Amino acid sequence: MERIDGRAPDALRQVRITPNFVGTAAGSCLMETGGTRVIVTASVEPGVPPFLKGKGRGWLTAEYAMLPASTGRRKQRDGVRKDSRGVEISRLIGRSLRQAVDLKRLGEYTVTIDCDVLQADGGTRTAAITGGFVALALAVDHMIGQGMLKESPISHQVAAVSCGVVDGQALLDLNYPEDSRAEADMNFVLNETGDIIEIQGTGEGKAFPASKLQEMLGMAKAGISQLVERQLEALRDKAYVVMQPQTLVLASGNAHKIRELSQILGPGFRILSMRDAGLEDVIEETGVTYAENAALKAEAVRDATGYLALGDDSGLEVAALHGAPGLHSARYAGPHGDDDANNRLLLKNLEGQADRSARFVTVLALASPFGPTQYFEGICPGAITRELRGEGGFGYDPVFLYENGLTFAQMGKEEKNKVSHRARALQKLKEALG
Ligand code: IMP
Repeated sequence: MERIDGRAPDALRQVRITPNFVGTAAGSCLMETGGTRVIVTASVEPGVPPFLKGKGRGWLTAEYAMLPASTGRRKQRDGVRKDSRGVEISRLIGRSLRQAVDLKRLGEYTVTIDCDVLQADGGTRTAAITGGFVALALAVDHMIGQGMLKESPISHQVAAVSCGVVDGQALLDLNYPEDSRAEADMNFVLNETGDIIEIQGTGEGKAFPASKLQEMLGMAKAGISQLVERQLEALRDKAYVVMQPQTLVLASGNAHKIRELSQILGPGFRILSMRDAGLEDVIEETGVTYAENAALKAEAVRDATGYLALGDDSGLEVAALHGAPGLHSARYAGPHGDDDANNRLLLKNLEGQADRSARFVTVLALASPFGPTQYFEGICPGAITRELRGEGGFGYDPVFLYENGLTFAQMGKEEKNKVSHRARALQKLKEALG
């Protein structure tokens, strides 16, 4: 079947995205696909709707309307009552673009995406979503430029395209004449990986087979992979806001801990030491719990840098000593870090004790610029030996017997790092950040 404009069945119409089309908006573009033209703006206002107040999160919402002359026959302007099609499409655009942003990292701001259709030739809602992403990204760059945000919260690219079945044939990106006689009509909203955000589909007048849905999904994926490229081209130097790694400052100067955290959290995070972030690495641990000490460090670093910050505090708790050395593990026998003296004192205090059970405890505090501090605890149960065993590790490792019959000092770094208290707490942190 020959298409009206001579395109192949799986070809997009010509796409043109003109960024910054509306100079007064925080972000905007003119989104054109074939004869469809939509102006999309992104406006930023402080505050969030009542249901999100005080949660440290932002919000994104959208409005869609067609201008009176956009459809050939004059369409009544939206008055006090919006037409229900417009309401439904506004909600689709909002839902879709919310998947582009990590709202926890937007701060208490509301971004409103306004989509006004200048000329409708099919696929206006999908054009509004694809263009909406560009307007959103430009608004985020504006927020960073204005000091409202330190980093971009854009976690995914989002784009959309229509597909349909005309005369039994699956087609990509329908224009209005094709759309108006399509036997099946679908809209696909996907992210940059091709994962599905939303699919709308209707068998017009009669049902269509699922095999056609698969065929259209394949076409939509290929089309959207081109659209996400177009979005990046339109953003040019502002494309840095798209999936920028999140900075996390570790409230420590310990190079080993920084490497470990980078490995666990992966490429979505940029891990800095306090020194990398321009800070001295001494913060007094004056708290009376691990959590307090960890939070003291994390919150001081968060306040000084404006970035997400992680603090930790650990200790060894021995049952027969009522939880000692606990919070005082590092300086049990005197000055900070005299491991040998600490171990000797511990063995002496346990002389003649049958109950050798003990545990290592770590508490991580994650201080966010936007919300309350979160805590992650890791506990590793074990027992205290009667003599030092093993050459590796640090601190109490030579006296801490793990359930496999080896001390942490005998286990080797990699093996210990799979089961240690720190590893268990870090795993919970990873799940929370994932
Ligand atoms: P920090 O809070 O991580 O500095 O830990 C405080 C103290 O607990 C350290 O100085 C060590 O004495 C002890 N400690 C914490 N984790 C370990 C470990 O994995 N092996 C041995 N000792 C540890």
